[in-house]
Amino acid sequence: MNEPGLLHPEEGEDDGGEQRLRPSRLDEFQGQDAVKKNLSVFIQAARARGDALDHVFLSGPPGLGKTTLAGIMAKEMGVDFKVTAAPALERPKDLAGILTTVTERTVFFIDEIHRLKPTIEEMLYIAMEDYQLDWIIGQGPSARTVRIPVPPFTLIGATTKAGLVAGPLYSRFGIPVRLDFYTLEDIRKILYRSAAILGVELDDPAVAILARCSRGTPRVANRLLRRVRDFAQVLGDGRITEAVVAQSMQRLEIDEYGLEQHDRRILETVIRTYNGGPVGAETLAISVGEAIDTLEDFYEPYLIQRGFLMRTSRGRVATALAYRHLGLPGTPPEANEDQGLLFRDPS
Ligand code: ADP
Repeated sequence: MNEPGLLHPEEGEDDGGEQRLRPSRLDEFQGQDAVKKNLSVFIQAARARGDALDHVFLSGPPGLGKTTLAGIMAKEMGVDFKVTAAPALERPKDLAGILTTVTERTVFFIDEIHRLKPTIEEMLYIAMEDYQLDWIIGQGPSARTVRIPVPPFTLIGATTKAGLVAGPLYSRFGIPVRLDFYTLEDIRKILYRSAAILGVELDDPAVAILARCSRGTPRVANRLLRRVRDFAQVLGDGRITEAVVAQSMQRLEIDEYGLEQHDRRILETVIRTYNGGPVGAETLAISVGEAIDTLEDFYEPYLIQRGFLMRTSRGRVATALAYRHLGLPGTPPEANEDQGLLFRDPS
């Protein structure tokens, strides 16, 4: 597998800066206004009644603020916050270990909820609905189930792959929230806020370029800002100007659409090796030396959103914009669409 690039919005090693920049209150959380307004009503109502907030299902590409929002909900509710990820819940006792320590109205966050094991999922159904834990004592014919009460709590499940979450699990969440890529304006606000926290000076033209290169993703924006700060410090006088950003982007091989080398390689492979597509996701992943999950979760959503790639029922297809952007000759297969060769994937 390739090294994830700088724009790869997966959580990863960084200099600890991400934690510092993470908003902790709803009014510090930029953008996603419709989501914020609704959540604020649900939180106020639950608080006024003294109830736990209903279970929340958060979906959307990585780095858009799912974990951040979960933490904010706990803080706004004034309750405990417990965090885990589905792969860490291997055996029933792992889940029981957490649920037996939750207190009244605790917010319990499970990341990557699409990866829950079926046995754990079933335990969770009962916990979510009846606030009880079914615990099996003993083995064989003498085994019996005891029901352990759990205080009313809020489960927040997050996923980048909402389509893989089982229907019965999904239906138990009362509040579904879908996060989408941020607008340029919102990313600009995030950059100004982060710059203020980091104590760096940056001017409007610099922010404009940085925002365009951030793939509509706050985690990427913050990461780029920190790297550009390094360039500004070492190559200039510490101030982040348009020239510093332009030079940094060039050195990091990030273009004006926010594509890095690996994105361009994916598009180039579709165009050169597969004649523009359609090519199946699995074949494409192997051709670019990437895990299919990484291709689908981290690279494709942005390439599709920006109109470089299309997902059709027969595979991935490069668009005219991709040909133009890479300066490659040929006719994009989307031209064949009117011959009925391609259909848009309804998903
Ligand atoms: P996810 O869980 O969706 O992968 P995170 O919640 O970990 O994403 O967010 C990644 C980083 O981006 C956070 O550390 C935070 O600093 C920043 N961030 C995310 N959403 C926002 C936002 N709406 N406003 C400001 N910063 C944000």
